[in-house]
Amino acid sequence: MAYLEGLMIDYPLDVGAIWRRTERYFPGKAVVSNLPDRTIHRSTYGEVLDRAARLGAALIELGVEPGDRIATVMWNSYHHLELYFAIPSIGAVLHTVNLRLHPQDLSYIFNHADDQIVFVDRTVLPLIAPIRDRIPAREIVVVDEGEPAPPGFLSYQDLVQSGSRARFQFRIEDERQAAALCYTSGTTGRPKGVLYSHRSTVLHALGVTNAEGGLGLVESDIVSPMVPMFHVNGWGLPWSASLQGASQVLPGRHLDPTSLLELFQSERVTITAGVPTVWFGILKLLDEAPERYDVSSLRYMLVGGAAVPASVLRGFWERHRVRMIHAWGMTETSPLGSVSTARSDLADADEETRFATILTQGQATPLVEMRIRDDEGRELPWDGTSQGELEVRGPWVARSYYRDEAAVDRFTDDGWFRTGDLVTLDSRGYMTIQDRSKDVIKSGGEWISSVALENAIMGHPSVMEAAVIGMPDPRWVERPLAVVVLKPGETLTLEAVREFLRPHFASWWLPDRLEVVEAIPHSAAGKFQKTELRRLLLGTAERRS
Ligand code: ADP
Repeated sequence: MAYLEGLMIDYPLDVGAIWRRTERYFPGKAVVSNLPDRTIHRSTYGEVLDRAARLGAALIELGVEPGDRIATVMWNSYHHLELYFAIPSIGAVLHTVNLRLHPQDLSYIFNHADDQIVFVDRTVLPLIAPIRDRIPAREIVVVDEGEPAPPGFLSYQDLVQSGSRARFQFRIEDERQAAALCYTSGTTGRPKGVLYSHRSTVLHALGVTNAEGGLGLVESDIVSPMVPMFHVNGWGLPWSASLQGASQVLPGRHLDPTSLLELFQSERVTITAGVPTVWFGILKLLDEAPERYDVSSLRYMLVGGAAVPASVLRGFWERHRVRMIHAWGMTETSPLGSVSTARSDLADADEETRFATILTQGQATPLVEMRIRDDEGRELPWDGTSQGELEVRGPWVARSYYRDEAAVDRFTDDGWFRTGDLVTLDSRGYMTIQDRSKDVIKSGGEWISSVALENAIMGHPSVMEAAVIGMPDPRWVERPLAVVVLKPGETLTLEAVREFLRPHFASWWLPDRLEVVEAIPHSAAGKFQKTELRRLLLGTAERRS
């Protein structure tokens, strides 16, 4: 049907728009970094962007072409923020790599992404140097304060110095062009790449700043993302803070509770964000020494990545008067998908009702839509009891994985993304995660693949069959529990299983418990019935802690 076209400027939603605003309006605002040697480095947006421009020019000089993937294996620091701006602005793709992964997964990801250049923190070099020959990149750049780079590597500070601001140019042709890439291990099988566009990045940055259904981030805020910048764009906070001109306080690799509380106190941080495991440690420390730290500057602490237990949310509020905001999201959703806040209709509700509401995963962020469907694809009512798979769509939700045709079943024919989270939605739209259909375990905010562990354990000479399930853990939220059926006459200990797996997996992947059973329940289709296993061994059919 013919329609009358609107007559507005097709203003490109790209990272350049954030850059120009930040530089114009907030050049003097602070970017503070806790360096590896615990020196506090003070910079400003003006300096960060000046260096980002030099870096961009230097990368063009190095032959970087639009669309090239450039990896960062780095903690949160001013350098990382410079790369957040420099790489997408010259049309290349900022590929943030999770430095907690096992070298095998790392080399898979570098090769799948085909990264041309890799930036690596000097403190992380021992992880990368041994697999140098398995990384396709032309150059590896060592990021530090300017110490000479080891032979065969480039120096970050030299690169910045070599770039001329006059030679820098934005090379973004289209807002739909890729800006960033992040791999998720939160699915069965190999890690999958989520390729963010400039448009999705800018819209998500706005969504995060939104006061209603977002995080209400404003210019006067001092934002300290504890969540690493390699986790889903630091949950979008580096972009949102820059756009709003809020100061940033970047904790580097010092993520222990003492260092974080000292940083929040000395820098008067107003917003911080992290996974439940980090909060458990911080709450414990505050409880032990309530007088030692001043947390009065905190407006709120964002928690996501796993469900926050009621005791933690209450503990912070009742004993330390610090508010938590609970959010849900995924790598595939940039990540912000929903935020849990008590709306005005709860203004007169008692505290119990308000807590119960905040503990849910919340209502969808504006521009994100939700629905739930059962196994047959029937849409389910929002009645608080019907449980089905959550599907979402929106301008910052993935429509496919990067170079991975096998995973098409995660995307519906009518344009929704299947999250693998099994949820209920109540009549007001508050979503509660009840379980997961994806066969993965989330430990301390990081994914562990049950299937990869099972396959490996089944290679043990004493084992006939093995299943791995997540068991609740007070510190890590979930930990792997290996369930095995032994071959006749064989015995097996947990230590033996761990030793057998150790060469192939990161140490935090190794199971914490072993159960030897007579048989593992199977479905008619021959799959493990993990819900049944959890019920039998843990006394619960659900994963909620
Ligand atoms: P993120 O770093 O945002 O957690 P991931 O892609 O690693 O992103 O993980 C997304 C998954 O983590 C979700 O599908 C869900 O299973 C789980 N998750 C995220 N936030 C929450 C939450 N608030 N409560 C419970 N589970 C959550």
